[in-house]
Amino acid sequence: MPTRSVPTRETYTTTTTVRIFPLHGLTPEQRVLLRAGQREAGAVYSSCMQAHKIARQTHDPWPSYTDLHHLTKGRHPDLCAQSVQSTCRAFDGTIRSTVTNRKAGNTRMRYPWKERRFQPIRWPAQALQRKRDGTRFPLGGRGKDRRYVDLPLHLPRKAGACQVIWNHGQYELHVCVTQGVAAAVQAASHTPHGGRGCVDVGEIHQAALVTDTGSGLIVSGRGIRAIMQGRNRAIGGLQKKQARCTKYSRQWRKLQRARDRITGKVERQVRDLRHKGMRLVIEQAKTEGVGELYIGNPDGVRRHKTGRHHNQRMSQWGYGTDMRYLKEKGARAGITVGTGPERGTSSTCPNPTCRQKQKVRGRRWACRLCGGIWHRDLVGATNMFALAFKETAIVLVPERQNITYRRPGPVGLRQRSRAGNARRSSPDRGLRGTSIPTELITSAVGHPPVPKYAQALLGTGPEGRTHCSPDGHGSACSALA
Ligand SMILES: [Zn+2]
Repeated sequence: MPTRSVPTRETYTTTTTVRIFPLHGLTPEQRVLLRAGQREAGAVYSSCMQAHKIARQTHDPWPSYTDLHHLTKGRHPDLCAQSVQSTCRAFDGTIRSTVTNRKAGNTRMRYPWKERRFQPIRWPAQALQRKRDGTRFPLGGRGKDRRYVDLPLHLPRKAGACQVIWNHGQYELHVCVTQGVAAAVQAASHTPHGGRGCVDVGEIHQAALVTDTGSGLIVSGRGIRAIMQGRNRAIGGLQKKQARCTKYSRQWRKLQRARDRITGKVERQVRDLRHKGMRLVIEQAKTEGVGELYIGNPDGVRRHKTGRHHNQRMSQWGYGTDMRYLKEKGARAGITVGTGPERGTSSTCPNPTCRQKQKVRGRRWACRLCGGIWHRDLVGATNMFALAFKETAIVLVPERQNITYRRPGPVGLRQRSRAGNARRSSPDRGLRGTSIPTELITSAVGHPPVPKYAQALLGTGPEGRTHCSPDGHGSACSALA
């Protein structure tokens, strides 16, 4: 969800986050009202779009927000006046961001050109009425005929504008919440000493962080991958069945509801894991005193055509979201986050005296020239330092005892439902099933061999080792290292 960081005063920072409330148990009357409101909001959007389109085509001055306001005022009986204004404002915002994007060279961005049947219903903060037993959302009508939707929902104290959205077969209320973070509090929790870090975002590993203090963090993305794979399989089956139905028939709708349920659930699970994973990165960066963080932008990796299965995985890899979360969470922690290219970082040997270039396969980066073996994503993040900070001081791949492997949260749907039974296998450390001479392993990536006493404590053999606690919080790694 979008978070903005708006410094208001020098000593005080406010951030806006969006809280999502699913609207279960709406009455049929309330559903009818909301649907009519959404349709009316669509009409407001469409008339704004038409006005703007005509102005563009006839080379007239473009309508301003005030023009749009006058155009739509008093014409939309199924919405309250403030919702109409908010819709116009949102349309105006779209135009502005398109202008900015096109000026920045992104000419693939188009100005709105399509009619919309539905739009979210938006309310500014002052349009809502807080009641003892919930909140009242005004819709159309005047005086005695005024229509409302009353929801038994207490909004957060600093709630701002909100909107009702139809998302995967159910209504959701999205509320902006402003939070103030006093700079003094921020400073107490984090004192950046000007340290630097680089993040390599990936699909199998959500992120790999290397700091100039010589520590490394790898956050596994396999949980997200597994959830997405399950989703694709389930949706594929339902799609096949739907193809045999008459469109919009009773059976078709039934299958559609099932699809919506799965898509919605997976979306929420993946969003949760992405947030948790990126929080791990920022927390590690804070502990290492990082003040500047560089994220390599993997744009372009996705464009290679690599067969339908991999193409699907790549198109569902939400690295943009990960990067946005990092920026937002970084801003709240007082870390400056920048992005830039990562070209060549994962194909060059991180050994400063070697610099061999070769293609990577698998998780393990084994240099053919100098024989060094590292974790592939850490190699990428380490090489990024030269690109990001144009540094002459050399940053090396972290020593194996300084690398932490974490999972953002418990993996799998079934495991989660059985509390305490989450998957306990070790996250992929990039060294499994390889025949590397032991003297190389000790100088390369990974944990030191488990001491005898630890084996006795944690169970024997590699299967019994826990690298991350199932809840994704505490880590057993520190006990082993
Ligand atoms: Zn090398």
